[in-house]
Amino acid sequence: MKMLLPAVLVASTLVAGCGDRTQRPPNLIVIFADDLGYGDLSVQGHPTIRTPHLDKMANEGLRFTQFYTGASVCTPSRAAILTGRLPVRSGMADDRVRVIFPPSQGGLPADEVTLAEMLQEAGYATGIIGKWHLGHQEGHLPTDHGFDYYYGIPYSNDMSPATTSWGRAQTYPPLPLMRNAQVIEEEPNQRYITRRYTEEATAFIERHAERPFFLFVPHSMPHIPIFASDAFEGTSARGLYGDVIEELDWSVGEILASVREAQLENNTLVVFTSDNGPWLTVNIAGGSAGLLKDGKGTTWEGGMRVPMIAWWPGTIQPGGVTDALATTMDLFATAAMMADVAAPEDRILDSIDLMPVLEDPDAAVRNTVFYYRGTRLFAVRNGPWKVHYITQSAYVGDAPVVHEAPLLFHLDRDPSERFDVAEDYPDTVAAIGALAQAHRVRLVAAPSQLRIPEWE
Ligand code: MG
Repeated sequence: MKMLLPAVLVASTLVAGCGDRTQRPPNLIVIFADDLGYGDLSVQGHPTIRTPHLDKMANEGLRFTQFYTGASVCTPSRAAILTGRLPVRSGMADDRVRVIFPPSQGGLPADEVTLAEMLQEAGYATGIIGKWHLGHQEGHLPTDHGFDYYYGIPYSNDMSPATTSWGRAQTYPPLPLMRNAQVIEEEPNQRYITRRYTEEATAFIERHAERPFFLFVPHSMPHIPIFASDAFEGTSARGLYGDVIEELDWSVGEILASVREAQLENNTLVVFTSDNGPWLTVNIAGGSAGLLKDGKGTTWEGGMRVPMIAWWPGTIQPGGVTDALATTMDLFATAAMMADVAAPEDRILDSIDLMPVLEDPDAAVRNTVFYYRGTRLFAVRNGPWKVHYITQSAYVGDAPVVHEAPLLFHLDRDPSERFDVAEDYPDTVAAIGALAQAHRVRLVAAPSQLRIPEWE
């Protein structure tokens, strides 16, 4: 017995990782901050923001140093994480790089298969607590896209007559707080929004301790306008932005504690990441991409490379750091593997199963990352190399700059994208150019995969 026990344990761990249906499939919790930058956590090197819960989560789990979002603004980024597809394929990216606003009609097309739909079909309970931003009119809510339960503000927290910073206040209805398809409150006090989301999230975990669940927690913070509750306001050396991040950190601690209380920690993958980089044009109310260049709205690294911590005691070895390339879209194939369901085969997915990296930080699963701004391919990363074809600053009204001679950066040697070395490595520029061209040809060759937005 003594000889057999370890072998049996190892085997069952491996089988559980592959989603053996004789056991309960693992739960998935995705915590998704809004506009939190690569450099905004203490575990990511911020000197004055304290994030002890996230630091501990990283110490017990795996931290990714080269993890990307599918887009550098809210709506397409959310489409990417929930469909496992580049937003250009789901109709959630357009040439003007917009997001959904309160007057917008439409949203994520009904025939897109979301992570929630896939897991719901596999018998999971599915909940979303927080910001949706993929359509808020009838037929486009989370409950129309595979979520059993919704609680939150359905779009950005600045789209309100009370708090907008965009001069459009008169066009906005009061900011709604929704439960499922009902507005339950107008203009909720945003100082308590992180706390309320957290209470809802932990209650969801408690309610579903007895069956597999997928819980998506897309926070409204730290998207501007930023707010923190009494317990956090005025407590951080970084000012209000730091207070907000430290409250989000508290929230992560509460969620992990409720997973442990339900004794689900060995059967739950918890992921923390962000929808895009920091909003640098809002000055001190915006975050930091650390040593990465620029931020939200751009295809420089600071716009699209975000913190990512994965936690799954017993499956992920503690204290790991991986430089494997990965994206938010990869969670789709990872979830399919965990739940032992087939991902949709009638469409192109941009998703690669991350289980090999979760089990071994030295594993590599992808070599290439495509950086889109709207519907245009701005840059391509292959291995350590990144080529920019077009660059554009965020929100300052400048035109895109098309680089007839593409820019080339070596991101391992030059993570801040300071030194263009294209002249020294023409073969690398050409090889990545061929990759980009093959990608474009494949996109255009499958017109049904290149969708026109229908949410004007
Ligand atoms: Mg955002």
